[in-house]
Amino acid sequence: MIYLDHNATTGVAPEAIEAILAALKNGPSNPSSKHRAGECCKEAVMQARGELGQLLNCTPPELVYTSCGTEANHFAIQGALAMQPDRRHIVASSVEHPSVMELLAHLEKQGVKVTYVPVDDKGQLDAAAVEAAMTAETALVTVMWANNETGVLMPIEAIAAATKARGILFHTDAVQAAGKVAIDLKAVPVDMLSLSGHKLHAPTGIGALFVRKGLKIPSLFHGHQERARRGGTENVPGIVGLGKAALLAKNELANEQAHLAALRDKLEAGVLERVPIARVNGAGAVRVSNTTFIRFGDLEAELILERLDRAGVCASAGAACTSSGTAPSHVLLAMGVDERGALASVRFSLGRDNTAADIDTLLDILPGIVNEAAAIAA
Ligand code: PLP
Repeated sequence: MIYLDHNATTGVAPEAIEAILAALKNGPSNPSSKHRAGECCKEAVMQARGELGQLLNCTPPELVYTSCGTEANHFAIQGALAMQPDRRHIVASSVEHPSVMELLAHLEKQGVKVTYVPVDDKGQLDAAAVEAAMTAETALVTVMWANNETGVLMPIEAIAAATKARGILFHTDAVQAAGKVAIDLKAVPVDMLSLSGHKLHAPTGIGALFVRKGLKIPSLFHGHQERARRGGTENVPGIVGLGKAALLAKNELANEQAHLAALRDKLEAGVLERVPIARVNGAGAVRVSNTTFIRFGDLEAELILERLDRAGVCASAGAACTSSGTAPSHVLLAMGVDERGALASVRFSLGRDNTAADIDTLLDILPGIVNEAAAIAA
């Protein structure tokens, strides 16, 4: 199997598996227990919090563990509104992840006003347009660090500077950026940042929200854990696994990103050369190094994905499966791609274990698969 869907989820790093197994084998683990078993896993959690803090360059108490990235996003956005009941306006980009978009749609029904700042045809967001959308009513600006479909990086430093100057809270969904780009929270004044374990070689079931020191975010679940910000007995194996995965990502960041960029460039160049109808969505924008989202004319992505899967290659469409069928990617629509083009796009997201041979295999089989799909569509 050639796995090229790392933006959906990653395999758990062997170092993280080892740490998780050790935590599980260690016996009963509730860090709130006052006996030696409890103390032991409290120490393991402290160590892991420090490791995750190193990835982001923040202090351990600024991290609140959650169950996933979606929960961290909800925690930040709902927390910002709860902290400022007189401010009922949110600024977001038009290409946020569904975990943010669907919450914002829900909040709009409850009377919160949301301004969705458009992106250009490469999927890029203009920080000045984000700043222009801020008003005296704005409770929060929420903009993702990297887009999950195109990989396009957003101008987080500039937006953070603008929100700070105006005294407006800024949250970034860094689920697709953590472990892929250097993040220095001592240098970039974001107030809250979400990440998710399973996107960076830790398991599912663990995520985190960075909450800058001094920000009094209300509890998500009431309880004493996580400094009374998120009640519920901690997921010790998940936390320990995330710590190891974060440390690995930090230590390997430069090498790994160079490796991924080389593979991604090889993939793009090869596809463009061998499949004349192919176009890269977001080409020319600054992107994370592992992601490419390629449009194949007007051919249905599903026809290509099914055949890739049969040939042992896992990739995905940007399109979302809904109860009524397949909906085109809101990200591509926001970039001005028409509906047919949005349904004709395949995302390849690479990971640390991919090799040049994987890309060669893909390049060998893809032209035939595209021709087959074209013959069916004709
Ligand atoms: N934000 C982004 C940008 C994502 O890509 C994802 C998952 O695909 C999420 C949030 C949600 O993360 P989780 O699956 O941990 O809830």
